[in-house]
Amino acid sequence: MGQTLDDLPLRDDLRGEVPYGAPQLDVPVLLNVNENPFPPSEDVIADIAASVAEAARGLNRYPDREALGLRADLASYLGHALTSAQVWAANGSNEVMLQILQAFGGPGRLALSFAPTYSMYPEYARDSCTTWVVGRRAEDFTLDREHALELIRSHQPSVVLLASPNNPTGTALPLDVVESICDVAPGVVVVDEAYAEFRRSGTPSALTLLPRYPRLIVTRTMSKAFAFAGGRLGYLAADAAIVDALRIVRLPYHLSALTQAVARAALRHADGLLARVDELRRRRDETVAWLRECGLRVADTDANFALFGTFDDRHVVWQGLLDRGVLIRETGPDGWLRVSIGSAEEMAAFRNALQEVLAL
Ligand SMILES: *Cc1c(COP(=O)(O)O)cnc(C)c1O
Repeated sequence: MGQTLDDLPLRDDLRGEVPYGAPQLDVPVLLNVNENPFPPSEDVIADIAASVAEAARGLNRYPDREALGLRADLASYLGHALTSAQVWAANGSNEVMLQILQAFGGPGRLALSFAPTYSMYPEYARDSCTTWVVGRRAEDFTLDREHALELIRSHQPSVVLLASPNNPTGTALPLDVVESICDVAPGVVVVDEAYAEFRRSGTPSALTLLPRYPRLIVTRTMSKAFAFAGGRLGYLAADAAIVDALRIVRLPYHLSALTQAVARAALRHADGLLARVDELRRRRDETVAWLRECGLRVADTDANFALFGTFDDRHVVWQGLLDRGVLIRETGPDGWLRVSIGSAEEMAAFRNALQEVLAL
C-alpha cells in the first residue's frame, strides 16, 4: 500500500499545500504563461549546440561556481555601467528570488508585497519561513503611495517585493513611488522586472536608481522577452555586497556548466532573440484596443500580456476558449482573465474564440 502525503512527517505549514501549477496542457494555442511565441532561429540553435559540445568536454569538472563569464555578459547586456560584481544569476529569477528571501528573510522576519501580484511570492516566503504580509493595489492596479508607505512603516519588512511591470496586471510602477519606498523601507527592496523589455516607451527601469539606493535589487529573467524560458536563467543587479550575501545561501555549483554555456550563447545573439519584442509590443497594444472595443475592461499593460474582464463566471469563458483550442490563464482578481501575447496567428485564434464564446 502506497503512503500518501498525510502519512509523511511533512512540515506543519506545508500540510494541505499543492505544487505550483499553471496547467501544462497539449493545446494548439498556448497563451497562458507569458512565453515568447518565437523559437530560436537556426543560427542560434547551431551556436547553442556548439557551445554545449564545448562545455561537454569539461563535464567531469564542477562548473565555475561564481559564473563570472556569464555575469560579465549579463552586466554588459544590462548596461548602466554595471559590472559582474553587481550581477548575480541563478536557475530562473524564481531561484534568484528564493535566494533573496533565504538571505534577507527567514524566521522572525517579514516580507511584504501588494496584491494582486505574482502568485509565487507567498510561496517563496512560506518556503523560507518568512512571514508574509500583503497590501492592496488600487482599483486600477496602481500602487497608492500613502498606503504603501503606511504599511511599510507599520510592518518594518525585511524584504519588499514589487513587480514592475506587475504580473498579472501589467502595471508598471513610476520610479518616484519606488524611490519613496526605498526611502522608508528598513530592509531590501526588490523590483522584479521580469517583463522590463516589453515596457512602453517612456516607462523607465529601476536600474537607474541603483547608484542611489544600495539596498535596492532589480531582478530580470531571460524567460520572457529573451525567448529563453526553457534555458532557466534569471539574474539581478544590485550592490556588490548584496551579491555577496546571496553567495552565502546559494547551493554550491547551482548553475550547471551547460546552463552557463547556453545562456552565454543566447546572450551573443541578444539582438536576434529580442528582435521581435517590438512586434509583440505592437500586438499587445492592438490586443488591448481590440478588447476595449469589445466593451471589456483591460488593465493598462507594459508587459507581454493583458488582464481583461470582467466576467460573472470567468471559468466559463476560460473553458470556452480551451474548448476552441486556446489556453489562457485564469488568474488575478475574481472576474478577470490573463492572455499572453503570441504570434499574429495565435492572437487571431484568440480573438475568434473569444468572439464565439461571448457571442459578440
Ligand atoms: C515569469 C516571471 C518571472 C520569471 O521567472 P523565471 O523563473 O525567470 O522563469 C519572474 N517574476 C515574474 C513576476 C514573472 O511573471
